[in-house]
Amino acid sequence: MESSSLPLLEVPEASEIRDWATEQGILILAHSYQEGFLQEAAHFVGDSLELARKASETQLDSICFCGVHFMAETANILCPNAEVFVPDLDAGCSLADSCKVEDLIRYQDHLEVKLGRRPTSIAYVNCTAAVKAAVDVICTSGNARAVVDSIPENEPILFVPDMHLGGWLNEVTGREMILWNGACEVHELFSVDTLLELQEKNPGAITMSHPECPKRIRDASDCVLGTAGMLRLVKESRGKTFIVGTEGNMIYRFEKEAPQNTYIPAPGASCACNLCPYMQLNTPEKLWKCLHDRGPRVEVPSQFRRGAMASLGRMLETT
Ligand code: SF4
Repeated sequence: MESSSLPLLEVPEASEIRDWATEQGILILAHSYQEGFLQEAAHFVGDSLELARKASETQLDSICFCGVHFMAETANILCPNAEVFVPDLDAGCSLADSCKVEDLIRYQDHLEVKLGRRPTSIAYVNCTAAVKAAVDVICTSGNARAVVDSIPENEPILFVPDMHLGGWLNEVTGREMILWNGACEVHELFSVDTLLELQEKNPGAITMSHPECPKRIRDASDCVLGTAGMLRLVKESRGKTFIVGTEGNMIYRFEKEAPQNTYIPAPGASCACNLCPYMQLNTPEKLWKCLHDRGPRVEVPSQFRRGAMASLGRMLETT
């Protein structure tokens, strides 16, 4: 089917979009925090690490990334010969926004003077390409512990940008990393009081929380896991009830891949849904349009490419 013959206003079924993209040589990647339709339309759904690996492995020269801006940047860095485009260029991330590269470099310089040596800088993947270029190694929630453990014990570490993930890593590794003061607005808004009420109403339910959650939520949980770890746990479980302390759309994936269990979203302070407002900017209509336009495109400025590739490469080698 010729692309020009397709009606743009009428959005086809998700599987038809995927088939059409396949014919056009476009790989659609979707993060697990995207709405169900976008997950169905994608060739591959995953967490940040899984999507980064898929982008680095593809032979195709076009990637449509359903996620937020820093994820599309990562795909563009790992697959420099492919054009990467997104449904909505405004889909950003509060956590990535909390760490500006100028502030980071100033702080690294300050720490070098204070400590007498420059600390190793680790950045959670939820940061801009500029920040990736300014640090030594990247991690995701799934491999963060292994990345921290790979740094010699006597080396000081600066961890950016998520203070909650960093705090959890300090607890489980026994390190005393210096933490950047950033947070994800979605995970920060979980309410511990309503979580405790929910647990009382659902005795026997297993509470899983993401390490981006504040300590008060992690401490009230049965386990702290990245999204890949959560998925593994629910797939291995039978007839369990899980209270899920991460972005609400993750439940779509759980219900699809492990329908034998029951899932209850952990409550937010002001609403029950806990959906990321940035991920929500991507819609089926915008996906359909961007596939036809092959845009808007995301292109990492050349001055950040080499440094960001080095820190991402170190992560992929470590884990
Ligand atoms: S859920 Fe949080 S960390 Fe993830 S994209 Fe949204 S704001 Fe950023």
